[in-house]
Amino acid sequence: MKFNERLLLINSLIKEINRDLSVDHAINILVKGGMKLLSVDAGVFALIDDDKLRCMSQSNFEFDVEMFCSDFGLQVEKTTVIRDIKEHPDLCEKLQRYEVKSLICTPVNIMTDKKGVLFLASFTEREFSEPDINSLEIFLDAGVSTIKNSFLFDLISKSQKLWQETFDAISDYVFVVDDDCRIIKCNIAFAESCGLHPRKIIGKSCLELQGKLAPTFCIEELYKNRKAYTEEITCDGKIYLVSGFHVTLPNGKNATVHILKDITEMRRLKEQLYHADKLTSLGLLVSGVAHELNNPLTGILGYSELLTMKAEDEVLKKELGKIYSAAERCKKIVENLLTFSRQSPPERSYIRMDELIDSAIELRSYWLRSNGFQIVRDYHDLPIVSIDPQQIQQVIMNILVNAEYAVLNSGKEEKLITLHTHYDRERGMVVIKISDNGMGISKDTVTRIFDPFFTTKPVNKGSGLGLSISHGIVKEHNGNIWAEGSLGEGATFIIELPAGKEGFSAVLD
Ligand code: ADP
Repeated sequence: MKFNERLLLINSLIKEINRDLSVDHAINILVKGGMKLLSVDAGVFALIDDDKLRCMSQSNFEFDVEMFCSDFGLQVEKTTVIRDIKEHPDLCEKLQRYEVKSLICTPVNIMTDKKGVLFLASFTEREFSEPDINSLEIFLDAGVSTIKNSFLFDLISKSQKLWQETFDAISDYVFVVDDDCRIIKCNIAFAESCGLHPRKIIGKSCLELQGKLAPTFCIEELYKNRKAYTEEITCDGKIYLVSGFHVTLPNGKNATVHILKDITEMRRLKEQLYHADKLTSLGLLVSGVAHELNNPLTGILGYSELLTMKAEDEVLKKELGKIYSAAERCKKIVENLLTFSRQSPPERSYIRMDELIDSAIELRSYWLRSNGFQIVRDYHDLPIVSIDPQQIQQVIMNILVNAEYAVLNSGKEEKLITLHTHYDRERGMVVIKISDNGMGISKDTVTRIFDPFFTTKPVNKGSGLGLSISHGIVKEHNGNIWAEGSLGEGATFIIELPAGKEGFSAVLD
């Protein structure tokens, strides 16, 4: 091949290498181009990584390339030409193994920690002329800078991919906002909360986004004071812990990285723990007081009854009756306090929940009927549950009595109480919902109704212990109880009780 022809070939090969930035493509062209330039039969490119040779590309070489590379590669410091293997007795045996008759090995220095070797082999004896070697070196010099770029590009792509995947693996919302309130970057969790693909969000103003959270981050003070901050926000019934960190972008502009963590569940558990803790200490205090009061109360009740029997004066009898009923009310409160503090472990037996609910309704049936209540039973198939029937009946009664009170005091003409049951098979929980169309519960109240002694009833009407006792009982059964509702819209109490192992197979008709 004439020198000019060689230059033209080199030029077109370099253009071909530049066509694609991938490392594999560049090295493939390097091998094939070298073979074409020198008209040899086979080519191999090996990379020295951590002092080990690894084949990156081969063409027309049917032997074990890895072995070939380790046989020859590491020794190549400069272009070595083996025209006649008989002149190299040390390598002769090895080369014969690969049927190679002539070989050129050229080191290709890509980067300080990345060195390669190009092997061009001929299976027949071949002379390599000076112009052959020169043109190969010109080709490699030009090609190596492109290969270097390919390696750098590969390195950047991998690190960008790693960074993006790390970002997307975070289930909290992470996004970066510039000083104009525009999203510069966000993870998948945040994009999904806005109902958009991450690419479609970039460049959008927080205010334009569908997600209810995003506009919160247009608050100037949050991102313009350049200080890291952490605070809680409530949005759409959920509580988020929001943190912001100032960052200077590569273009010198300022931005803020926001991280939002949904802490609703964590907060609920914390509140439950707090409640349980409060109940334990109150229980101790209350049981002491209740025991002390129980004996004198029994005395008051007994003696006032005795005196009523003995008294002949009607006015005196009436006043003694008042003492008796006041003492009786105190005794009921003391009994409640003792139930509250005792926290006795449930004595379990296998029960049909719908029958248990019906028996609780039955106990109130006269009262409910005479006050014009409509009771809706919306029962679904339930497994048998292992519970203490007395305790759970008490819970249902407490909720029923409260519902009756709330409905009567709402002044509504239609008096409705609905009892719904279903089985949450996935979680293995029997769910009971008791709803009323009464006066409802305000947001403030809903968080406190299970607190001991919390009551909104007038002085002589409520002790504030019913729901607290119910909470304790349900927790003893490893269940959950909570209330939902808003003022004027009625209330719903939800009880969840674990069905137990038997429950999964014993779904009744
Ligand atoms: P008490 O009934 O003695 O007040 P509870 O612990 O049973 O004690 O109830 C605490 C409070 O919860 C009530 O005073 C009331 O404010 C609220 N509450 C309970 N049930 C309902 C309901 N169905 N509708 C509205 N408020 C309710």
